[in-house]
Amino acid sequence: MSLPVLSLDEIRNQVEQCQACPLWEGRTHVVFGEGDPHARVLIVGEAPGKNEDLQGKPFVGAAGKFLDELLEAAGLKREEVFIANVLKCRPPSNRNPQAHEIQACAPFLRLQTKSIDPLVIVTMGNFATQFILKTGVGITHLRGTVQQAGKFTVLPVYHPAAAIYDRSKREVLLADFQQIGSMVRDRMAQSSDIQALD
Ligand code: SF4
Repeated sequence: MSLPVLSLDEIRNQVEQCQACPLWEGRTHVVFGEGDPHARVLIVGEAPGKNEDLQGKPFVGAAGKFLDELLEAAGLKREEVFIANVLKCRPPSNRNPQAHEIQACAPFLRLQTKSIDPLVIVTMGNFATQFILKTGVGITHLRGTVQQAGKFTVLPVYHPAAAIYDRSKREVLLADFQQIGSMVRDRMAQSSDIQALD
Protein backbone atom coordinates (compact mmCIF):
# COMPACT_ATOMS: atom_id res chain seq x y z
CA MET A 1 0.00 0.00 0.00
CA SER A 2 1.44 3.39 -0.93
CA LEU A 3 1.90 5.94 1.82
CA PRO A 4 -0.05 9.22 1.78
CA VAL A 5 1.84 12.48 1.28
CA LEU A 6 1.51 14.30 4.60
CA SER A 7 2.94 17.66 5.58
CA LEU A 8 5.89 17.58 7.97
CA ASP A 9 3.69 19.21 10.64
CA GLU A 10 1.18 16.37 10.35
CA ILE A 11 3.95 13.79 10.64
CA ARG A 12 5.49 15.66 13.59
CA ASN A 13 2.15 15.52 15.43
CA GLN A 14 2.10 11.75 15.00
CA VAL A 15 5.72 11.35 16.18
CA GLU A 16 5.17 13.50 19.27
CA GLN A 17 2.39 11.19 20.44
CA CYS A 18 4.13 7.95 19.46
CA GLN A 19 4.45 5.09 21.95
CA ALA A 20 5.06 2.38 19.36
CA CYS A 21 8.29 1.13 20.98
CA PRO A 22 9.60 1.33 24.55
CA LEU A 23 11.97 4.24 23.79
CA TRP A 24 9.17 6.76 24.35
CA GLU A 25 9.39 6.13 28.12
CA GLY A 26 12.95 7.50 28.39
CA ARG A 27 12.70 10.47 26.06
CA THR A 28 12.84 14.12 27.11
CA HIS A 29 11.89 15.19 23.59
CA VAL A 30 11.27 13.41 20.35
CA VAL A 31 13.83 14.50 17.77
CA PHE A 32 11.74 14.82 14.65
CA GLY A 33 14.44 16.41 12.47
CA GLU A 34 14.73 19.90 11.05
CA GLY A 35 15.52 21.86 7.92
CA ASP A 36 13.95 22.87 4.64
CA PRO A 37 10.65 20.97 4.17
CA HIS A 38 11.41 20.87 0.41
CA ALA A 39 15.15 20.17 0.76
CA ARG A 40 16.99 18.71 -2.22
CA VAL A 41 19.22 16.84 0.24
CA LEU A 42 17.88 14.63 3.03
CA ILE A 43 20.53 13.62 5.56
CA VAL A 44 19.74 10.57 7.67
CA GLY A 45 21.56 9.65 10.88
CA GLU A 46 21.02 6.92 13.43
CA ALA A 47 19.26 8.13 16.60
CA PRO A 48 19.29 11.08 19.02
CA GLY A 49 22.05 11.25 21.63
CA LYS A 50 21.92 12.94 25.02
CA ASN A 51 22.16 16.54 23.79
CA GLU A 52 19.70 15.94 20.98
CA ASP A 53 17.20 14.41 23.43
CA LEU A 54 17.56 17.39 25.78
CA GLN A 55 17.15 19.99 23.03
CA GLY A 56 14.80 18.13 20.68
CA LYS A 57 17.11 18.89 17.73
CA PRO A 58 19.28 16.61 15.58
CA PHE A 59 23.09 16.79 15.61
CA VAL A 60 23.71 19.47 18.23
CA GLY A 61 26.81 18.06 19.98
CA ALA A 62 30.37 17.56 18.75
CA ALA A 63 29.15 15.38 15.85
CA GLY A 64 26.76 18.18 14.90
CA LYS A 65 29.58 20.71 14.83
CA PHE A 66 31.53 18.43 12.55
CA LEU A 67 28.44 17.93 10.38
CA ASP A 68 28.31 21.72 9.91
CA GLU A 69 31.94 21.60 8.67
CA LEU A 70 31.06 18.77 6.32
CA LEU A 71 28.08 20.68 4.92
CA GLU A 72 30.32 23.69 4.39
CA ALA A 73 32.76 21.46 2.46
CA ALA A 74 29.81 20.42 0.28
CA GLY A 75 28.79 24.06 -0.27
CA LEU A 76 25.53 23.46 1.61
CA LYS A 77 23.95 25.27 4.56
CA ARG A 78 22.18 23.44 7.38
CA GLU A 79 18.96 25.34 6.71
CA GLU A 80 18.82 24.22 3.07
CA VAL A 81 19.03 20.47 3.84
CA PHE A 82 16.78 18.36 6.05
CA ILE A 83 18.41 16.35 8.84
CA ALA A 84 16.58 13.39 10.39
CA ASN A 85 17.36 10.13 12.16
CA VAL A 86 16.10 6.58 11.73
CA LEU A 87 14.92 6.62 15.37
CA LYS A 88 13.14 9.66 16.79
CA CYS A 89 13.75 8.84 20.48
CA ARG A 90 17.06 8.31 22.26
CA PRO A 91 18.15 4.74 23.00
CA PRO A 92 19.36 4.45 26.64
CA SER A 93 23.09 5.14 27.10
CA ASN A 94 23.32 5.69 23.33
CA ARG A 95 23.25 1.95 22.66
CA ASN A 96 22.67 0.72 19.12
CA PRO A 97 19.09 0.79 17.81
CA GLN A 98 17.37 -2.58 18.02
CA ALA A 99 15.58 -4.20 15.09
CA HIS A 100 12.10 -3.89 16.65
CA GLU A 101 12.69 -0.18 17.38
CA ILE A 102 13.76 0.47 13.79
CA GLN A 103 10.74 -1.41 12.50
CA ALA A 104 8.39 0.56 14.78
CA CYS A 105 9.88 3.94 13.83
CA ALA A 106 10.46 3.27 10.11
CA PRO A 107 7.06 4.57 8.91
CA PHE A 108 7.94 8.08 10.12
CA LEU A 109 11.14 8.30 8.08
CA ARG A 110 9.28 6.92 5.06
CA LEU A 111 6.58 9.57 5.48
CA GLN A 112 9.21 12.30 5.92
CA THR A 113 11.02 11.16 2.76
CA LYS A 114 7.79 11.15 0.78
CA SER A 115 6.85 14.61 2.07
CA ILE A 116 10.26 16.21 1.44
CA ASP A 117 10.83 14.35 -1.87
CA PRO A 118 14.59 15.08 -2.03
CA LEU A 119 16.90 14.62 -5.01
CA VAL A 120 19.46 12.73 -2.94
CA ILE A 121 19.58 11.01 0.43
CA VAL A 122 22.86 11.02 2.37
CA THR A 123 22.93 8.10 4.82
CA MET A 124 25.36 8.47 7.70
CA GLY A 125 26.71 5.29 9.30
CA ASN A 126 25.66 1.65 9.24
CA PHE A 127 22.13 1.85 10.62
CA ALA A 128 20.83 4.58 8.30
CA THR A 129 22.58 3.08 5.27
CA GLN A 130 21.42 -0.47 5.88
CA PHE A 131 17.88 0.70 6.59
CA ILE A 132 17.54 2.87 3.47
CA LEU A 133 19.29 0.43 1.13
CA LYS A 134 17.75 -2.69 2.72
CA THR A 135 21.18 -4.30 2.82
CA GLY A 136 23.44 -6.07 5.30
CA VAL A 137 26.59 -4.66 3.66
CA GLY A 138 28.61 -2.44 6.00
CA ILE A 139 29.34 1.27 5.61
CA THR A 140 33.07 0.64 5.13
CA HIS A 141 32.25 -1.01 1.79
CA LEU A 142 29.44 1.34 0.79
CA ARG A 143 30.82 4.77 1.70
CA GLY A 144 31.73 6.94 -1.25
CA THR A 145 29.58 4.90 -3.65
CA VAL A 146 26.42 6.02 -5.44
CA GLN A 147 23.42 3.80 -4.69
CA GLN A 148 19.75 3.81 -5.59
CA ALA A 149 16.69 3.19 -3.39
CA GLY A 150 13.57 3.37 -5.53
CA LYS A 151 13.66 6.76 -7.27
CA PHE A 152 16.17 8.20 -4.78
CA THR A 153 19.92 8.49 -5.29
CA VAL A 154 21.57 7.43 -2.03
CA LEU A 155 25.06 8.51 -0.98
CA PRO A 156 26.36 6.55 2.04
CA VAL A 157 29.05 8.11 4.26
CA TYR A 158 30.57 7.38 7.65
CA HIS A 159 28.69 8.77 10.65
CA PRO A 160 30.36 12.05 11.77
CA ALA A 161 30.56 10.71 15.34
CA ALA A 162 32.89 7.96 14.06
CA ALA A 163 35.42 10.63 13.05
CA ILE A 164 35.58 11.97 16.60
CA TYR A 165 37.09 8.70 17.81
CA ASP A 166 38.94 7.80 14.60
CA ARG A 167 40.65 10.83 13.05
CA SER A 168 41.48 8.91 9.85
CA LYS A 169 37.77 9.02 8.96
CA ARG A 170 37.77 12.82 9.08
CA GLU A 171 39.54 13.33 5.76
CA VAL A 172 37.45 10.57 4.15
CA LEU A 173 34.24 12.29 5.26
CA LEU A 174 35.41 15.70 4.06
CA ALA A 175 36.26 14.25 0.62
CA ASP A 176 32.92 12.41 0.46
CA PHE A 177 30.96 15.58 1.28
CA GLN A 178 32.88 17.55 -1.36
CA GLN A 179 31.83 14.89 -3.86
CA ILE A 180 28.25 15.06 -2.57
CA GLY A 181 28.25 18.85 -3.11
CA SER A 182 29.29 18.45 -6.77
CA MET A 183 26.75 15.72 -7.35
CA VAL A 184 23.91 17.74 -5.80
CA ARG A 185 24.78 20.75 -7.98
CA ASP A 186 24.79 18.49 -11.08
CA ARG A 187 21.44 16.93 -10.15
CA MET A 188 19.88 20.34 -9.45
CA ALA A 189 21.09 21.62 -12.83
CA GLN A 190 19.64 18.52 -14.57
CA SER A 191 16.36 18.91 -12.70
CA SER A 192 15.98 22.59 -13.73
CA ASP A 193 16.84 21.65 -17.36
CA ILE A 194 14.03 19.05 -17.28
CA GLN A 195 11.58 21.56 -15.77
CA ALA A 196 12.49 24.07 -18.49
CA LEU A 197 11.44 21.47 -21.11
CA ASP A 198 8.01 20.93 -19.49
S1 SF4 B 1 11.61 5.67 18.69
FE1 SF4 B 1 10.06 5.99 17.09
S2 SF4 B 1 8.67 4.23 17.30
FE2 SF4 B 1 9.82 4.36 19.21
S3 SF4 B 1 8.50 5.63 20.54
FE3 SF4 B 1 9.99 7.02 19.54
S4 SF4 B 1 8.87 7.79 17.75
FE4 SF4 B 1 7.76 5.94 18.44
